[in-house]
Amino acid sequence: MGERVRTPLVVANWKMHKTRAQAASFVQAVLARLASVRGVEIVICPPFTALETVGRMLLGSPVRLGAQNLHWESQGAFTGEVSAGMLVDLGCAYVIVGHSERRRMFCDTDERVRRKVRAAFDAGLIPILCVGETLEERQAGQTESRVTAQVAEGTLDLSGEEVGRLVIAYEPVWAIGTGYAASGQEACRVNGLIREFLRQRFGSFGEGTRIQYGGSVTSRNAEEFLSQPEVDGALVGGASLDPEEFVGIVQAAAGAVAPQPGDERPNSSYDPA
Ligand code: PEP
Repeated sequence: MGERVRTPLVVANWKMHKTRAQAASFVQAVLARLASVRGVEIVICPPFTALETVGRMLLGSPVRLGAQNLHWESQGAFTGEVSAGMLVDLGCAYVIVGHSERRRMFCDTDERVRRKVRAAFDAGLIPILCVGETLEERQAGQTESRVTAQVAEGTLDLSGEEVGRLVIAYEPVWAIGTGYAASGQEACRVNGLIREFLRQRFGSFGEGTRIQYGGSVTSRNAEEFLSQPEVDGALVGGASLDPEEFVGIVQAAAGAVAPQPGDERPNSSYDPA
């Protein structure tokens, strides 16, 4: 396939898995192999408790650190919450926002997601905005309207330049953690609709937004998604917990793209002081 306009991004979302020791042994097992892959940007999102451990190990490598959630306020009486500035302090470059598990179980409404996206950019983080329809919405023919509404609300406060740096993960809720992935063609179709919405609202800035697919991606089906022209990478849950699986997905992403100049971006944002 030809050269891509956007560098694909493969993100590991570990959810509430791995102690610091388990996280360290994962990174030790994969780092050399991940660091040698060209043409793909890689992010690992451990739980908050392992961010510092993983961040230290990624320092000097091209693999970036991400978090799974944040609060929209910069500080205050919000027991149990973590701010964007705290994540930057730990060396995070990315943060997942509005994952369907948080929308479903932790009251992440479209409005809260919008504020979290704004807070992430304000602190210098790149948000990975998760959108996707439930099974009921799909069956009711509401996939396009639901996904577009989530993207519209999530990008409401953003400038065109920020939209160009934003990452969107299209994750049909029925495909997350179920083993029932969408087809590559369907992921490409919905991502294309998101792209069209961004173009209409933000003009050429919408060309820069990376739109991933997420939902039961494994090393076996990764190529089907990552070879689609409108799929700029993958957000990976369950399969990212296994070193061989995750490396396999990243290698599939690399196989689906030609290497591009300037791929090597060492992660030097972590300040161990
Ligand atoms: C996710 O957590 O974003 C996800 C896509 O999970 P899984 O890969 O397990 O479906």
